Amino acid sequence: MADDTALGTVVLGLEGFVLLEAREVDGEVELAVETMAVTTGCPECGVVARAHGRRATVVRDVAMGGRPCRLAWSKRLWRCEEQLCPKRTWTERRDDAALPRAVLTERARAHVCVQVGRHGRPVAQLAREFGTGWNTAMAAVRDHGLPLTEDPARTAGVASLGVDETSFQAAGPRRRTTFVTGLVDLDTGRLLDVVDGRAGTSVAGWLQQRGDGWLSAVRRVALDPHRGYLNALLEGLDAPTAVVDAFHVIKLANTVVDEVRRRVQQDEMGHRGHKGDPLYGIRRTLLVGTERLTDKGKARLEAALVAGDPDCEVWYAHHVKELLRRVYRADAHDEAADRLEEFHEACQFVEIPEIRRLARTLRHWHHQLLAYWRCDGLSNGKTEAINALIKRIKRVGHGFRNLANYRLRLLLFCGKPAWQDQPAARLRGPRHAS
Ligand SMILES: [Zn+2]
Repeated sequence: MADDTALGTVVLGLEGFVLLEAREVDGEVELAVETMAVTTGCPECGVVARAHGRRATVVRDVAMGGRPCRLAWSKRLWRCEEQLCPKRTWTERRDDAALPRAVLTERARAHVCVQVGRHGRPVAQLAREFGTGWNTAMAAVRDHGLPLTEDPARTAGVASLGVDETSFQAAGPRRRTTFVTGLVDLDTGRLLDVVDGRAGTSVAGWLQQRGDGWLSAVRRVALDPHRGYLNALLEGLDAPTAVVDAFHVIKLANTVVDEVRRRVQQDEMGHRGHKGDPLYGIRRTLLVGTERLTDKGKARLEAALVAGDPDCEVWYAHHVKELLRRVYRADAHDEAADRLEEFHEACQFVEIPEIRRLARTLRHWHHQLLAYWRCDGLSNGKTEAINALIKRIKRVGHGFRNLANYRLRLLLFCGKPAWQDQPAARLRGPRHAS
């Protein structure tokens, strides 16, 4: 009996179970197990119950020795001895091992959750590996994943918050592109949450669910140039410093360069740009920082502008974009402020509608733009890194339809949940060259 106990707890890894037999069935390992329970009380009346035979249940377990494994659990049936008790008979339960009528053991379900959530593997792949349906595998991810993602400790202690939109579902014949808003801890790079939509209300609703302590701990926020986000953050938080994300500011300027190039192209040639048109040929070069261009690249840019930009509008848009980029190369706040004024003067110097509009937008964001130098260059860089991870999960999931599943998958993959794991000990030290 002592040996059986050791086999149950050590080899089997299931406390309170004994391993009766290991056999091979259709190339799979089948472990015959039962619990060591010898007495129990009636759950209804408490009278000591009597053993009433056994009933075999087969559940899929984690693989063993590289082969699929199943537990043949011979469950004990109990009968209540009390004549007046309505309970009669029942089957023993060990919910920590396997839930009643479950296909998978709990540890197999936990394994599915780790593989899908932590390692970003497709649900369908795990379903195949465990011989179950997609829904069964996804339910395992949900049951074992949600306690991790919804743990308040996971989102605790945020001092710098980043807010950014990402697309959720691409536009199709019957719908427009839908968006979600990601909230990121910019210090640790953890995805805090994903909420529906990209309106200020999406962010406001999320903030309302945080406690006062959480809200007052957030000192800095980084965001896209998006009024809704800014208002929600300023109202929901305790006077944080808001920084408009540098990447998005430069993107606005790049968009202006593109717009002016397209307009001039259309005016000059009477059609949209295509191969052979001078401006079309430099559409990407225009967006590259001048300092990164080779002499050859600069010459090509000059030649194309001479050929396709008679009023120098594209050239000017490019010039203004470079002035804005120069702001971000400033080392200190005052230097940046001076350079930003130079940018604005340059914008007022010409009557190019796209540039005037850019200048107006950046005037609105003046304070948040220069806050970059008051917050040691705080940016949504970590958010962008997370967006790359999000794209990976989207590819694995072949597009998500269900926002709750999407959110769960993202939080398990990029939300830094507290996975309980024990790294294997090193059996041999690193080899040293002698
Ligand atoms: Zn009873």
